[in-house]
Amino acid sequence: MSGYSFIEATPWQCAGCRLPLTPTTVSLTYLNSVFNVELMACPRCGMLLVPESLAAGRMLEVEQLLEDK
Ligand SMILES: [Zn+2]
Repeated sequence: MSGYSFIEATPWQCAGCRLPLTPTTVSLTYLNSVFNVELMACPRCGMLLVPESLAAGRMLEVEQLLEDK
């Protein structure tokens, strides 16, 4: 189990809820390993703010996990 944090101060708000984003931990699988990743997310609808460094590849795995719920 490994963890990565992408928490950073951001002025962004959720466009739909107009709420400030808060740190949220999500689990994702990448290359058959499970990671806990901290991202800024909307506390109401769960919209994730994805850094470009993560969106480059691993976000595909995150989206698949969320769709399974
Ligand atoms: Zn929202």
